[in-house]
Amino acid sequence: MKLDLQNNLKRYKRPFLIAGPCSVESEDQVMEIAKSIAISKPALIRGGIWKPRTRPDSFEGVGTIGLPWLVNAGKEVGIPVTTEVANAKHVEAALKAGVDVLWIGARTTVNPFAVQEIADAIQGTEITVMVKNPINPDLMLWIGAFERFQKAGITDLIAIHRGFSVYKHPRYRNVPNWEIPIGLTEELPEIPVICDPSHISGRRDGLLHVSQKAMDLNFAGLMIETHNNPDKAWSDAQQQITPEKLSELLQQLILRKADIKVEELDFIGFQRSKIAELDNQLFKLLKERMEIVRDIGLYKKENNITILQSDHWKRMINQRLSQAKELELTIDFLRSVLDAIHQESIRHQTKVMNP
Ligand code: PEP
Ligand code: MN
Repeated sequence: MKLDLQNNLKRYKRPFLIAGPCSVESEDQVMEIAKSIAISKPALIRGGIWKPRTRPDSFEGVGTIGLPWLVNAGKEVGIPVTTEVANAKHVEAALKAGVDVLWIGARTTVNPFAVQEIADAIQGTEITVMVKNPINPDLMLWIGAFERFQKAGITDLIAIHRGFSVYKHPRYRNVPNWEIPIGLTEELPEIPVICDPSHISGRRDGLLHVSQKAMDLNFAGLMIETHNNPDKAWSDAQQQITPEKLSELLQQLILRKADIKVEELDFIGFQRSKIAELDNQLFKLLKERMEIVRDIGLYKKENNITILQSDHWKRMINQRLSQAKELELTIDFLRSVLDAIHQESIRHQTKVMNP
């Protein structure tokens, strides 16, 4: 069935909602969940059939037997269904069973061989494909996956932002790095982006915050893992919520408009021109700073001194970062600004020293 979601997304009430369990566990489980999430009017019901798991002894999905369970649950409530596919066999089985939309998981998007295999397997169909970001924050790899599907003639494509792997983050299971989905929209504006707060947050109490942020960044929708008995879920138990909690979360979301009216533009336009002026000043200051850096570079060259003096750099960083609180800027932000400036300074001095 051709859903043509990309063009029809506006027909759905924002956020375009995808809900359903992390994994399909039994015929009754997926049917019960489908019936109880219907009040939240999801556009799609999700359910993992084949689960890519980090360790081999985890539950790896019920497999092909679960496909008709998922498809029937969707039919019962009149909502299309989606599942993750990771190879050509999955594609064949899912299409045969009547799954409406396929999604490519983060562990598959990283692998161009796997993505190409899937693209070849669905060539000639009109299926909708949702592509999750790769587990590493590599925008080009994500874009490359879309290009493989486009080359295979698949036009109904949607992106799912599920965050990026890091080792033991205190807050996120997968850090959002919002600039990557924003970069995707810049490169491929026709592809709607849906946020998956479940896999970004990894815990129930973080879902609202991430969902709200996605809405404020004007994402098209949300994919939220929903389970009738989350604590007993066979996968991702900590992050799944009940259909009731899903409905509460949706009610708590504040949906702001993306378009600015003419009268609002008066104020915003004026403030934006002040920002443009400040940016120009910042750039001019940076230019001046680099002139001094080059003078020092010349002196270092003449006196045979290395570009980097680690002790000085460390002292300088500490001194600058100690101002963070007073400036109402985060240490992380100041640190990345300083790193960028330092990198550029080193580049200038290297050029002076070794022309
Ligand atoms: C999932 O959606 O259950 C899943 C496995 O997600 P990801 O590919 O984002 O890890
Ligand atoms: Mn999951």
